[in-house]
Amino acid sequence: MNDISHAEFRRRRVRRLKRIIVTAFFIFMTIPLALAIWLGCRLYTTSNELAEITAQYMVQLSITDELNDTLDERSAEADELKDKLNEAYDRMAEMEADNEGSDVQDVRDIGDFKDDGIRHVYLTFDDGPSIYTGKILDILDKYGVKATFFVTGEEAETNPERYRAIVERGHSIGMHSFTHVYSDVYKNKDNFIKDFNKIRDYISETTGVTPEIYRFPGGSSNTVSATDMDELCDYLTDEGIVYFDWNISSGDASHYPLSADRIKRNCLKNVANFDNAVILMHDVSTKGTTVEALPGIIEGILDMEDTEILPITKDTVPIQHRKSKEIE
Ligand SMILES: [Zn+2]
Repeated sequence: MNDISHAEFRRRRVRRLKRIIVTAFFIFMTIPLALAIWLGCRLYTTSNELAEITAQYMVQLSITDELNDTLDERSAEADELKDKLNEAYDRMAEMEADNEGSDVQDVRDIGDFKDDGIRHVYLTFDDGPSIYTGKILDILDKYGVKATFFVTGEEAETNPERYRAIVERGHSIGMHSFTHVYSDVYKNKDNFIKDFNKIRDYISETTGVTPEIYRFPGGSSNTVSATDMDELCDYLTDEGIVYFDWNISSGDASHYPLSADRIKRNCLKNVANFDNAVILMHDVSTKGTTVEALPGIIEGILDMEDTEILPITKDTVPIQHRKSKEIE
């Protein structure tokens, strides 16, 4: 009995061991296999996704290429248009300058006052001071000539030293309104007087010189003033102020930028027609070509016989587009 149960016990143990071995074998075979299948599937889908992304990328790339081409074409077209526009500007500026030239013919009779047989030329700079004032002063110093600056109050707050430099370096300083805003300065006589006092006081306090000469914004012949210009001229005369217009325009106020060469030609072509030539130029941050033209203008004038360059004073022969009444 004992022997039987012992043999039975061993058989069972062997069967159990077999089951354990088979199960273990099954587990160790199945898990890697399942893992391999799973990885295989992942690889398949990932490579599909990758292929899709690559295809999309290629499409984007070709679109980008196309866009770049279009962009290149457009910017070439834009460059061409810019060139054409600049050409048109040049032509318009030239036409404008030529028109101003014909205006000069109309005012040829003013400035014809021969006294000492010497032609007097007055270089005047409006609307300053500006970033160019220093450069203009250096050029004037280089040639040893004095000019006239009709200043506004625009730089008053930030650059008072520019007003002082004009006076300290021996040039004339005149008024050209404080604000230079036509609608404000010319709104009515009271506004004009207020603005006039403001610029006169400012120049006087800043430079120590009380100015006695004035240039109207737009000149005394401007057609934009809402106030009768005769009234304003008379007011200045009563204040002991002489106003000055010009009989030669550099044309640098043109909306279309003029070349330095064009400005020089505009200034020089009519100087010989006057015994007293007042040349209008601008001291403004956007008028770099005026500064560029200045040495050539001065040289051209100094080359003329019996001609000198002078600063405007109260006693200078007044060049006026509109006659003022006599100062008492
Ligand atoms: Zn002006």
